[in-house]
Amino acid sequence: MDFELSEEHKIFQRTAAQFAQKEIAPLGEEYDEKEEYPRWIFPRSGELGFLGIPYPEQYGGTGPDTIALSLFAEETTKADAGIAMGLVVQNTVGTSPIYNFGSEELKQRYLVPAIRGEAIGAFALTEPNVGSDVSAVEMSAREEGESYILNGAKTFVSSGMMADYAIVAARTEKGKGHEGITIFLVEPQSSGFTRKGLKKLGIRAQDIAEFTFEDCHVPKENVLGEVGKGFYHLMSTVQKTRIVVGASSVGLARAAFETALRYAKERRQFGQPIGKFQGIQFKLADMATEIELASLAVYKAAWRNDKGEQCIKEASMAKLYASEMVNRVAYQALQIHGGYGYMREYPLERYYRDARIMEIFEGTSEIQRLIISRQLGL
Ligand SMILES: Cc1cc2nc3c(=O)[nH]c(=O)nc-3n(C[C@H](O)[C@H](O)[C@H](O)COP(=O)(O)OP(=O)(O)OC[C@H]3O[C@@H](n4cnc5c(N)ncnc54)[C@H](O)[C@@H]3O)c2cc1C
Repeated sequence: MDFELSEEHKIFQRTAAQFAQKEIAPLGEEYDEKEEYPRWIFPRSGELGFLGIPYPEQYGGTGPDTIALSLFAEETTKADAGIAMGLVVQNTVGTSPIYNFGSEELKQRYLVPAIRGEAIGAFALTEPNVGSDVSAVEMSAREEGESYILNGAKTFVSSGMMADYAIVAARTEKGKGHEGITIFLVEPQSSGFTRKGLKKLGIRAQDIAEFTFEDCHVPKENVLGEVGKGFYHLMSTVQKTRIVVGASSVGLARAAFETALRYAKERRQFGQPIGKFQGIQFKLADMATEIELASLAVYKAAWRNDKGEQCIKEASMAKLYASEMVNRVAYQALQIHGGYGYMREYPLERYYRDARIMEIFEGTSEIQRLIISRQLGL
């Protein structure tokens, strides 16, 4: 494959990079420290067309375009992973079930304002007892008249505290495994709905919440897709999200690498810049090589996704390799900074903390290896 970004994609990448470096990067340290999200970044991103990259113009979008979405994730995560993650969720799982499975009315009511950045979406699948095995959803949804009554708990919901709506998976039929799961759109004002914020290691600007549902009434018109087919609906969109997490990993790795490269040229020990030592040069050479390989895997998977081709294996490989790569790169970038890397006055400790999540959400590294193994016929 002869791969090069198109002229349009190169222009888009430059525009996204300018926005990210000018408007996101200066906020990173402060909002990580405050563990707070700069909410106005949503309407600002919406105004610039950055929240509708996977969606057509009829809803206010600019896509669909997985390569552009990957470039956006890469450039914003390079600027700050915590802030970027809010925008990435909004461009993927926070809206895609509405676009893919929602009625026209739900699209107008939730998707259109989400693309403008006026409504923030969250996606709640994980439960206290349900993580990697998503078919084990325990939360129940009981039909009653014109509503469903939801009972149960969700956890680790990205953007969960600030969300204006949440996309929630619940079980409409007991004992059916993959069958019997349905997707609902829930508003936080609904009776019986409460939420609580959680604290985490990295991507601290982005909020994360635990949801509790106690006889929470959701109108039937808020069902997304077919009743009982929620598992299959959700699984049909994961490949795109995995590619995007791969892209975010590449962006964060680039930030760590570029900081380390600069430092290696400036910091002097034993009478010369540390970048003159082969031990440091080889670290940087390996980091640059790995970033290049990961980015190619991400772009190739995105390119195939845009052609409408199945790319389950390529998406998992890109996510697996890029997410493990960013952890190696962040580790070495901090090492190159010595003691200064460990201090909060440099961004290395933040990159190091932020990198860790890439191997966990959207399917852990172990789950990606399982998927790849299955694709190999094992
Ligand atoms: C910051 C953050 C944001 C998140 N955002 C969201 C969100 O917005 N919405 C949402 O629904 N969820 C979200 N999640 C949840 C995330 O997707 C899950 O944490 C992840 O899928 C793993 O589930 P778990 O934590 O329950 O781990 P478990 O599934 O309990 O896994 C524990 C360990 O066992 C391993 N393991 C499990 N099964 C196997 C197997 N078959 N073979 C080998 N190893 C296995 C795992 O890889 C892991 O190492 C988020 C999580 C975090 C930390």
